[in-house]
Amino acid sequence: MSRKIIIAIDGYSSTGKSTFAKLIASKTGYLHLDSGAVYRAVTLFGIRGGWIDADNNIDEKSLRAAMRQLRVSLRPDTYINEENVEGLIRQMDVSNAVSPVSALGFVREFVDRLLRRYGKKGGIVMDGRDIGTNVFPDAQLKIFMTADDKVRAQRRYDEMVAGGKEVSFEEVMKNIQDRDYKDTHREISPLRQAPDAIVLDNTNLTLEQEMDWFTDLMRTKFGIELK
Ligand code: C5P
Repeated sequence: MSRKIIIAIDGYSSTGKSTFAKLIASKTGYLHLDSGAVYRAVTLFGIRGGWIDADNNIDEKSLRAAMRQLRVSLRPDTYINEENVEGLIRQMDVSNAVSPVSALGFVREFVDRLLRRYGKKGGIVMDGRDIGTNVFPDAQLKIFMTADDKVRAQRRYDEMVAGGKEVSFEEVMKNIQDRDYKDTHREISPLRQAPDAIVLDNTNLTLEQEMDWFTDLMRTKFGIELK
């Protein structure tokens, strides 16, 4: 594939954005970047440092000061300095605290800076909540993913149980609904469908059907043939 575009994938929690984005990246030869992982890394850093308590109260001043020493990278696993934190950032304590952390302006500035550096040369697939609206408003392709929330909770629950995590379906459902609410209602860069985004509702789609949809889209919209 010769043209190197930016593909922005936004949408609600647990709509399979990362899985879809990873597959797209392997089909196109692009780099996949999971922006949510960076917000999760900042949250883990905050919990470890004691600046976010068990009720998700945030000591903003101390967190902000401590973040001057924080280095996060996507390789593509998520690293804090030289530590691979990919597994730790998917734990429930991080999932429960990440939305209030990601609503803070200084956190968003930190993450935006990092993401834009990665996107400089194009040829990336980035998934998140505000990629098409805020991080890369000029992205050539914007996809907005959605699905029924019960279907989303079931998928996430199955995935966590398969990964050996102890959670209840209700807990997963509540986390998804809470995050959707907080992500769409925050003041800075809320989750919104960009006016030029194409909606992908995967409630009744298999991953294979999603990929067929994507392959068609690349052909019709960009004249790019994928195998
Ligand atoms: O994608 P994931 O569910 O891992 O993202 C975790 C959280 O990070 C989201 O619920 C949201 O609060 C925040 N986020 C964000 N903007 C992004 C990506 C994630 O606010 N671009």
